Formats: sequence, C-alpha cells, structure tokens
Amino acid sequence: MFHCPHCEKRGIPPLRKMILSPGLTAICQACNGTSGIRYPSWIKAMLPGTILMIVALFMDSEPVEWALNLTGFALMIILPTLLTPLHKEI
Ligand SMILES: [Zn+2]
Repeated sequence: MFHCPHCEKRGIPPLRKMILSPGLTAICQACNGTSGIRYPSWIKAMLPGTILMIVALFMDSEPVEWALNLTGFALMIILPTLLTPLHKEI
C-alpha cells in the first residue's frame, strides 16, 4: 500500500497507484481522501520506457525489438508506480 497524502496512512492500493495518471485520482481506504499525481513527475517517470520503445522502432532484429518493447512497457508501469509522489486533490 502507498502512503496517503491526507492521513499519512498506507491507504492507496498498489493496483490503483499503478494505473494512476495525471487527471485520474485515487481514494484512500483509510480516510476517503482523494489524491493524484502531477504531470512533471509522471513525464519524468515515463521517459525511460518511452525511449526504449522508440529505440525498438529502429531495430532490425525482431527478438531485440520485442525485448526492448517489453522492457519499455514494464518500465512505463513500474517507474511511475514507484516514482510519482501522491498529492492531495480536493
Ligand atoms: Zn488517507
């Protein structure tokens, strides 16, 4: 569980945090507070995975292309989940 910015308890389910993007909000299970993430940290966290997937476009070898795409996709889920801090939404 992730810490809620309202009550500081671990009230945000990992799955909810995983699919969070700017504009989408998560509800804390402890205090019902609404929180979300901000664009700058989200874009920074999405960059490594995006770069890998762009690099994959220029690969001639199909296994390498697939490996880069899968790694890029995994990074686009894992990095934003771990690196984007939650902010209070009203
Ligand atoms: Zn809370």
